[in-house]
Amino acid sequence: MQRGFFTLIVLIALAAAAAAGVARLAVFPFAEVFERVALAPRPCEEPIAYSVGAHDARFGLSRDEFIAAMRKAERAWEEASGRDLLAYRQGGEVKVNLVYDSRQETTERLRTIDRALIETERNYERMREEYERLSNEYMDERAALDRMVEGLIDRTRSYDGEIAYWSGRGGVPSGATARLAKERAGIEEDRARTAAAERSLSRKLALINERVESMNGLAAELEAHVVRWNDVSGARGEVFEEGVYRRDPSGVEIDVYQFETEEKLVRVLAHEFGHAIGLEHLPDPRAIMYHANQGGAAVIAESDLEELARVCGAELALR
Ligand SMILES: [Zn+2]
Repeated sequence: MQRGFFTLIVLIALAAAAAAGVARLAVFPFAEVFERVALAPRPCEEPIAYSVGAHDARFGLSRDEFIAAMRKAERAWEEASGRDLLAYRQGGEVKVNLVYDSRQETTERLRTIDRALIETERNYERMREEYERLSNEYMDERAALDRMVEGLIDRTRSYDGEIAYWSGRGGVPSGATARLAKERAGIEEDRARTAAAERSLSRKLALINERVESMNGLAAELEAHVVRWNDVSGARGEVFEEGVYRRDPSGVEIDVYQFETEEKLVRVLAHEFGHAIGLEHLPDPRAIMYHANQGGAAVIAESDLEELARVCGAELALR
């Protein structure tokens, strides 16, 4: 009862302070600003008990998986500080809720576009590899054909020269007839082989052009994916809260609105648990208590521990 009264006074004082500081409001969600100050009475002395509040199955996360993520967030703080700060207990005071709303829907949509993008990129890459392989083959065959054509021209020229020579002298002598007939047949064979190589080369060129067309199509598809991704994520806004910590006379709650991966969920939970312990936002972008909650794994930074030490009133070294 007394605590409720105290909380109310803090709420009024902070509502006034928050109304004056408009810039702060852009960064800190309103509820968080005053609830963080109305702290649990004995931070760090006994573990804060948390439990599952609302669990929305649309996140595609089972209740057990949700609890496992909370335990990971708990361990992140406890392993870094060497303190028993949090504990999962059925009916525990801090209720953690998975709240499905447009934020998570947007994340799902972005994830779908991401998958399509990756698939398209993969196809493009495969096409490009084929294109390169075919192009290399084409260059080799082209060079071989050029040599064949040169050889054919030389051979034809010397054959024609010899025929011209003999026709100025009354015709080919009988001793040379068989050799020249054989040479002529050889030239015909060369000509046929060259023509076949030319046909093969133009087939290869058609294949290369097909790949180029596919690549252009895939590139346009990729661009469309990127445009859609930007539309969806632009509508979501640059900075948004993935979770909110609330403490009021009716109880203490953590709402998690959205997360892209399990790793991100653990990070959001670790951030909100930090508030539950009594930590403020920190200016260090690597801190778990950084307001925008960026980054991947739930790694407790040195600045987080300094903040924890302030709240606990004790020295804490990063383990
Ligand atoms: Zn926060």
